[in-house]
Amino acid sequence: MSVKHNNNQLKCDLAIVGGGLAGAALAMTASRMGLSVAMIEAHGIDTFPSSLPERVIALSHGSHRHLEQLGVWQDVVRAGVAPIRKVHVCEPGNRGEVGMHHGEADVEALGYVVQNAHILSAMYKAMPEDVQVLAPAQLRTLAVDVDGVRVGVRDVDGERNLYARLLVGADGTMSLVRRLCGIGSRGWDHNRFGLVASVTPKIAHHDVAHECFRPDGPLAFLPLDAGRYSLVWTLAPREASRIMALDDACFMQALEDAAGQGMQAHLGGFVEAGPRALFPFEYRVAEHFTAPRVALIGNAAHTMHPVAGQGLNLGLRDVADLSAALRSAVQGGRDIGAPVVLEEYAQKRCVDTASVTAFTEGLNAIFCADLLPVKLARGLGMAGMDRLPALRKWLLKRAAGLAQQGGAA
Ligand SMILES: Cc1cc2nc3c(=O)[nH]c(=O)nc-3n(C[C@H](O)[C@H](O)[C@H](O)COP(=O)(O)OP(=O)(O)OC[C@H]3O[C@@H](n4cnc5c(N)ncnc54)[C@H](O)[C@@H]3O)c2cc1C
Repeated sequence: MSVKHNNNQLKCDLAIVGGGLAGAALAMTASRMGLSVAMIEAHGIDTFPSSLPERVIALSHGSHRHLEQLGVWQDVVRAGVAPIRKVHVCEPGNRGEVGMHHGEADVEALGYVVQNAHILSAMYKAMPEDVQVLAPAQLRTLAVDVDGVRVGVRDVDGERNLYARLLVGADGTMSLVRRLCGIGSRGWDHNRFGLVASVTPKIAHHDVAHECFRPDGPLAFLPLDAGRYSLVWTLAPREASRIMALDDACFMQALEDAAGQGMQAHLGGFVEAGPRALFPFEYRVAEHFTAPRVALIGNAAHTMHPVAGQGLNLGLRDVADLSAALRSAVQGGRDIGAPVVLEEYAQKRCVDTASVTAFTEGLNAIFCADLLPVKLARGLGMAGMDRLPALRKWLLKRAAGLAQQGGAA
C-alpha cells in the first residue's frame, strides 16, 4: 500500500513521529510488511546523522541481531564497530574490583560499541523508497477519531495534514505525542550531565570496557574503533560547565585525576581528546504505552540513566514487539490501530520495561549512595562478587542483554 496524496493531505496506515533510531527501525520494518508509512522528523535527513556529536551505543546481542535482520549491520561494521570482550568495574577507595569476561557468558563479545550516527546513516540508506519521509518537519497537532488519527505537521512548505490508522510516538524523552495524547509520565531529573567524547589512551584497550563508580556517578570508558575509548563522564551541573570550558590538555589531565590510580594502571593517560558534548540524565517512564490509535516506543516511552547502557536496547525491543503485533494484525486482515493490537503490544512491554528500569536505576542508586552502610555493603559486594561465579554470570547476562533474548528482534 502506498501513501496517498491529495493536495496537502496524506493518507497512510502508519505515521511515525521521530526519525531517531527507534522510529527509523520501525519505519523500515513496517514498510517491509506492506504497510504504507510516513515518518516525520524534525531534523533534515541528509545532514542529521553527520550532525550528531560523537555519541556511542553499547549494543546488546538482541540489538545486534535486530540490526542484522534490518540488513544494516554490515554497513555499520564498515563504518566501525568495537567488541567489548571484558568489563572492569572499580570504585576509588574501594579495595574490591570486578572483572567480567565474555567467556563467562559463553559469547564472543559482551556487546558492540557503535556510533549512533553510523547506525542512523545505515538505516536511512536502507530505508525502503515507499516510506514517505517528511523532514525537516514538526508535529503540531493530533486528533483521534474512530478510524484513525489526524496529524497536523509543519514543514518548509507550510502546514499539512496526515491521516493514519495508527500513530507511533518515537519522538524522544520530551515526546509531544505523549503529551498531546494526555499520557502522563513519572520520573525525576538526576541533576547530572553525561560528558561524552572520544579519547585515545596511551595503553591499547584490548577490547576492555572500564566503569569507575565515583561519588558524582559513573565514569565509563567503552572501547571504540581506531584504538580510542568513548568516554561517558557523569558530572554535577556546575562541574560539567567547568570541565567543558577546559582546553584539551587540561581536560585530559582532569580526566586522569578523576579516573584515579586504579583506572590509570589500565589506561596509562591520554594522548588525544575529540570534541565534547553534554547530555542531561533523566529517568522518565510513560504511565501508559498506548492510547486510542497511538503507541509509544523508545525514549518517548522510557528514558533511563545510561549507567548500564540499556536505553536503545530496550527501545529496539519495543520496535520488535510492536512489529510482531502489527504483523499478526496484517496477516489476520485486522485494523492495525485496533485496541486488541495495542493491548498486545502494551502487555508485552510492561514487564521488560519495569525490570530494566528497576535494574538500571537501582544500580545507579547503589553506586552513588554516600551512606556508610551502603558503602560498606558495596565494598563487600564488589570484593565478594569476584568470587561468586553465579552472581557474576547473572549480572553479565543482564548487562549483555542476554537475559531478555526472548524479547529481542
Ligand atoms: C550519554 C548517553 C549514553 C547512552 N548509552 C547507551 C548505550 O550504551 N546503550 C543503549 O542501549 N542506550 C544508550 N543510551 C540511550 C540511547 O541513546 C537512547 O535510548 C536512544 O538513542 C533513544 O532513541 P529514540 O529514537 O527513542 O529517541 P531519540 O534519539 O531522542 O529520537 C527522537 C527523534 O524525534 C525527533 N522529534 C522530537 N520531537 C519531534 C516533533 N515534535 N516532530 C518531529 N520530530 C520530533 C527528534 O528530532 C529525534 O530525531 C545513552 C544515552 C545517553 C544520553
